[in-house]
Amino acid sequence: MKGREGDLVPHPARAISHGMARKHVNLGRAPAKADLPSKLCEACRRPFSWRRKWARDWEQVRYCSDRCREAGR
Ligand SMILES: [Zn+2]
Repeated sequence: MKGREGDLVPHPARAISHGMARKHVNLGRAPAKADLPSKLCEACRRPFSWRRKWARDWEQVRYCSDRCREAGR
């Protein structure tokens, strides 16, 4: 009967494959792109996301493009 206890001990190979599966899930996560902030353009009402050129004045940005900014005025 004592031989059955051996089955309850986790198998080393099993534990390793489990860790690899976890790593795989992390690699499949969405890229950092999803973390970028986004706004709704006041002219065309379409959402647009953060762009590097707005890094300094993102707070003031209200339109997705120069064209929309002129249309909104
Ligand atoms: Zn727009």
